[in-house]
Amino acid sequence: MKRIAILGSTGSIGCKALQVIEAGGERYKVVALAAGRNIDLLAKQIDEFRPLGAALLEQEDAKTLRNRLNERCETQVFYGTEGFCHLVTLPEVDTVISAMSGAAGLVPTYQAIKAGKEIALANKETLVIAGSVIMAEAKKQELAILPIDSEHSAILQSLQGHHKEDVRQVILTASGGPLRESSQGEMEKVTPEQALRHPNWNMGTKITIDSATLMNKGLEAIEAKWLFDLNIDQISILIHPQSIVHSMVEYKDGSIIAQLGIPDMATPISYALSYPRHLESMLPRLRLEEIGTLSFTRPDMKKFKCLDLALKAAQIGESMPAVLSGANEVAVELFLKGKILFTDIAELVEKTMDAHRPYPLNTIEEAMGADSWSRIKARELAGEFTVRRS
Ligand code: MG
Repeated sequence: MKRIAILGSTGSIGCKALQVIEAGGERYKVVALAAGRNIDLLAKQIDEFRPLGAALLEQEDAKTLRNRLNERCETQVFYGTEGFCHLVTLPEVDTVISAMSGAAGLVPTYQAIKAGKEIALANKETLVIAGSVIMAEAKKQELAILPIDSEHSAILQSLQGHHKEDVRQVILTASGGPLRESSQGEMEKVTPEQALRHPNWNMGTKITIDSATLMNKGLEAIEAKWLFDLNIDQISILIHPQSIVHSMVEYKDGSIIAQLGIPDMATPISYALSYPRHLESMLPRLRLEEIGTLSFTRPDMKKFKCLDLALKAAQIGESMPAVLSGANEVAVELFLKGKILFTDIAELVEKTMDAHRPYPLNTIEEAMGADSWSRIKARELAGEFTVRRS
């Protein structure tokens, strides 16, 4: 039996992971659940899964949660980053599903690796901000970091039974998001509601906006670089609107190995938990005859400037990807609040990157320092955009 802690249990990946775990019966056991602010849903999950411990971000919320739980419920409630770290390092935990969005999941994930826990990683920022530190620690602990992202799961699957030195390139597929067909002029007028309407995937708000700007694909390229020890030049991106081919690996002899499946996160979650096995799934089967056509095109880097910026940040390396990620989080938040335009997201990220002098990241503190520098700088620079808008 695999004993699991989930960071971000009330988010879209967390909820899906709980479904996969439940369907897995005796194979899995939930021992800890951590969430940001969703007290109601976490209380429900505790009732159902009876974990040893649970945590929320704020102390007040943790108190409210404890009062709400049944007196006989033995789940201990913690709060804050410290609470998250405590839960993921419990001796009863074998695997940590890291699915808290944004930078919040970084420190607990790092602590879990240091404690020798296997990681099923859905949080992109962990590797984008601190890839060098995280991978060095995972190597030291001889730990697997198993991706919960359809693309990286596809790459991992396409690498099985092959030789790493035979890889020519990795091809990441992207649906193209809701603005795939929009013109540059239309992009300026995009509202948060329009950008949140993703055609194929049901996800949290931050990642859905990142999918509309294609920043998500850029972050995934950086993530793939770390996970599979690739050069950023070995990663190429194709727009594939059907979201059936989740990514591919091209070998030196010209063979391309791909993984196909219906677009549902249950597959990468299940594979990460049962790796290297492919176990029975609750999903309907993929009927290729119903899909009919699979198409691929190159992304327009001018229109999707965020993707271009992310690849540039990866080329520069050191602290630049952390700065890209921090500035992007700020920009997405400002866009969702109606403070900047959709096209300003890339502008703000670019300005923040221009203002940054990159340095190597050797510790988790340095990585977090780059992230917070970037947030402060981006907020400062955002002033110009807000003025221009009003
Ligand atoms: Mg993905």
